[in-house]
Amino acid sequence: MSDPAAAPAHDSAPGAVPSPLPAGLYLVGTPIGNLEDITLRALRILRSATHILAEDTRHTRILLDRHGISTPMISCHKFNERAREEEILSRIRAGEALALVTDAGMPGISDPGARAADAVRAAGLPVTVIPGPCALSAAVALCGATESRGFLFEGFLDHKTAARRRRLQELAAFPSPVVFYESTHRILKLLDEVEEELGPARKLFIARELTKKFEETVAGTPAELRKHYATRSLKGEFVVILLPAES
Ligand code: SAM
Repeated sequence: MSDPAAAPAHDSAPGAVPSPLPAGLYLVGTPIGNLEDITLRALRILRSATHILAEDTRHTRILLDRHGISTPMISCHKFNERAREEEILSRIRAGEALALVTDAGMPGISDPGARAADAVRAAGLPVTVIPGPCALSAAVALCGATESRGFLFEGFLDHKTAARRRRLQELAAFPSPVVFYESTHRILKLLDEVEEELGPARKLFIARELTKKFEETVAGTPAELRKHYATRSLKGEFVVILLPAES
């Protein structure tokens, strides 16, 4: 199927009046920190859409203001995404082009968007992706240990301690790297859990604050990483890659 959002380069020329987009849902990747990380196509779609479905309209306003985009927004987050489904379908049936963005990165990757995409596709209406930054792919690219073996994306572990530990045990013998998203509040807890469930020799790669001022990567055993973080701020966002056990 051809891409309804593909358009000639002159559409993004400064001062050009954007052509109306074909009706449908457009999943748009947005920066994971550095506001320069946005594609020309993403900007054109955000500018030309009839509405932008945004996880947090105040957050997205910063990005839109930076690029002089005034498309009206509708809030669409994990607590109302389901309730929005009918409205999304009826707007698209009425001819609207809806761009969907989250606070950071790709919609549907540990973020809202998957449910809306499913509902629109199931209704026989077009869904188009405008790929962009993603913390997962950025960390995997930096890690380097995934080239020949692929990787498993686990996303966030459960918040409950027993479920987290059970899942780590299940993943213990997985032969490829496993990628987790983790919050600043639980990063030290995760190091303890990996040490206790998978042994003190298991190595991890951690990418913090990707694309931001304090971007940092570090690798080592849980004890080495605890030592590293003892002298640094633990603020920020983390991608943790559990490396396979060394044989
Ligand atoms: N949809 C996003 C994506 O495409 O990466 C992920 C959203 S998820 C709610 C937020 C988590 O992604 C954070 O807790 C962190 O684990 C990871 N993350 C997002 N931005 C990051 C960054 N700049 N550096 C490191 N990790 C980041």
